[in-house]
Amino acid sequence: MSDRWIEVADKVWVRRMEELDQSLGLVIGEECCLVIDTGVSADAGYAFATAVRELTDLPWQVAYTHDHFDHWFGTAAFGESAVWAAGDGATYLSRGDEQRKRWAAKYRGQGREEEARRIARSRLVPPNCRVNGAVGLNLGGRTVVLRQVGPAHSDNDMVVEVPDAGVLFAGDLLEGGAPPSYGSAFPYEWPQAVEYLLSWKPPIVVPGHGDPADYWWARTQARDLAEVARLCREVAQGFVTKEEALAHSPFGAEAMTAALERCEALTPPPPEPAPPAPAAAQGPPPPVIVYDLFDYSIDMTR
Ligand SMILES: [Zn+2]
Repeated sequence: MSDRWIEVADKVWVRRMEELDQSLGLVIGEECCLVIDTGVSADAGYAFATAVRELTDLPWQVAYTHDHFDHWFGTAAFGESAVWAAGDGATYLSRGDEQRKRWAAKYRGQGREEEARRIARSRLVPPNCRVNGAVGLNLGGRTVVLRQVGPAHSDNDMVVEVPDAGVLFAGDLLEGGAPPSYGSAFPYEWPQAVEYLLSWKPPIVVPGHGDPADYWWARTQARDLAEVARLCREVAQGFVTKEEALAHSPFGAEAMTAALERCEALTPPPPEPAPPAPAAAQGPPPPVIVYDLFDYSIDMTR
């Protein structure tokens, strides 16, 4: 498979990428277009920008769904433009630098030297427009909504809604073809965030990885995310064992392990046990008064 376009609604496009099975987005208005995520490296970004130029020559703006490297390392190809995100630029840069080293090493370890080099030499472009809550962006003839959500898949999730076309770009809050990624997620909060996103019943849902799908697919995944949260809670309470959770996870053992580890990391240590109250303050327990049944005489005539 090579990279290809799918038009999911009128002038709303999804670029299906071979690398990591990503789905990047493009929404075209009358005066401007919005690019949603930019790919794993500067090289991937240049190929994507070239593909965008096959469809439109309107000026572009860029939206990041979150700060994981595969969603924004391609932005250098888009030159000087507005870049919208829920996270702040400084955090993007510091995390980007760390991810660049880690992923380059990971690819190198897999013997994928060329991919490692592509990531290592990608120039990082942090967002310059911060989204707090929701922002309506008029592209000319159509308005898209950039909505901050979560924490869910990450601590800086943002989705893009195209209300006139009924399309939701969900970032990695939803994933097709592979289990959701729990590595830096908030397993307990994630299902609620997805429920909220689906409250307007978008007919077309584009996940961050995998094929575009519909509302009912997204709803099923929301249910499975809730089941993972429930299993995490029950393991924490000792109601089910870790082994049971892994065996019954809707996304398989690996995703469940990551979710459990994440819950453990996010749970604050238990508070220091309170010192026992002094014996005098406790006093003796209250006496138990036992009545004999025949002590009562109820006069029903009165
Ligand atoms: Zn991600």
